[in-house]
Amino acid sequence: MSDIRQRFYIYDCPVRGEVVHLKQALKTILAQRDYPQAIKVLLGEMLVASSLLASTLKIKGRLSIQIQSTGTLKWAMAECNHLGEVRALAEFEQDPRFVEAVDSSVALSSLVGGVLFINIEPDVGERYQGIVPLEHATLAQCLVQYYDLSAQIPTRIVLASSEESAGGLLIQLLPRTEEEQESVDSDLWPRLTMLTETLKAEELISLPAQEILYRLYNEEDVRLPDSEVLSFGCTCSKQRCANALIQIGEEAVKETLLEQNPIEMHCQFCNSRYTFSAEEALGLFGRHVS
Ligand SMILES: [Zn+2]
Repeated sequence: MSDIRQRFYIYDCPVRGEVVHLKQALKTILAQRDYPQAIKVLLGEMLVASSLLASTLKIKGRLSIQIQSTGTLKWAMAECNHLGEVRALAEFEQDPRFVEAVDSSVALSSLVGGVLFINIEPDVGERYQGIVPLEHATLAQCLVQYYDLSAQIPTRIVLASSEESAGGLLIQLLPRTEEEQESVDSDLWPRLTMLTETLKAEELISLPAQEILYRLYNEEDVRLPDSEVLSFGCTCSKQRCANALIQIGEEAVKETLLEQNPIEMHCQFCNSRYTFSAEEALGLFGRHVS
């Protein structure tokens, strides 16, 4: 049960949602760098959020959540693809506030001019980027604001994380026709959002998805399709590195080779290293080493 995403519906109601729980993937990701407490918690929440938001897409590709700021937390990003693979990374300067923190609000409050990006990158087709100013105390509130402003689908999101595990829930009131509207209990959405907000951080972090849904909505007729497995996965490859070299151009590659031969590329998400000999690197441009 450790790393899953559980979809839920309420029978005969225009409501859907997801519960995400991450443990092993979080552990793997947080072990890749020496992160202070506040950043660990923020990355946990971002990973859960990207998994929740990715579930609302009907495309093959990936969704990433990215924070940028000019404060001591430089940037942080988390991503989930259609296979349920997640990865995350953050860049920061040492800040004593990050070490003592128990929740991610410290990391968020350290942001200077912080902006949140939501990037949707389909394997085929156009990319989309949504931008939200980070004006709220929690990541969940910032994401709800994004839905309020952009998608106009009433949405509630709750997120929580520790160093060990992370959890979150998203619930949405789906668009209805007028006819459907008449048959919907007018108290449904206010009741569900109120119940959702009673969820405590430790429940989100420690309880299985089904237990969370039962505690919240046991008065409703909740239906659960099969859950999906989430896992740590990196999309880096030697081919992607080669594409990056092609993109910077032959002159830049030649200059790099003067300082570093072979060229070594390091993926910070998974610590994989890719090596290009001069022959390989120049071969990308149809050149041979004489
Ligand atoms: Zn990688």
